[in-house]
Amino acid sequence: MFNALLMLWRGLGGRCPTCGYGHMFKTFFGLIEGCPACGLRFEGTGDQSTGAMGISLTITVALGFAGALILVWQWPDHLILGTAGLIGVLSIFQLFCYRVSRGFWIGILAITGAIHEDERRDQFFL
Ligand SMILES: [Zn+2]
Repeated sequence: MFNALLMLWRGLGGRCPTCGYGHMFKTFFGLIEGCPACGLRFEGTGDQSTGAMGISLTITVALGFAGALILVWQWPDHLILGTAGLIGVLSIFQLFCYRVSRGFWIGILAITGAIHEDERRDQFFL
């Protein structure tokens, strides 16, 4: 149990869920192919993007719903301006949330065994 939580924590931080040493991202959104320390393959199946988008969209929609409720409840006279502001804030949040969600999802995939070390791990060294 602790090991699974540690792997999720490492994924949230953009580190390799298995070893915690390798970084997952080469750019803000771009994953490296695999961990240079342990060889865990981050890219490859395409499942990483789909699960991360699901997590990211779920969190963003939930925050948008809560924000809309607060907007209607607190500022009913400024709904158009408030909605525009809410959309702007959620759009920026979505950009940052996607990166964290992607790391988190790779942590889940590592826990479930859906991703594993690659035998061609020497290619991951930059
Ligand atoms: Zn690693």
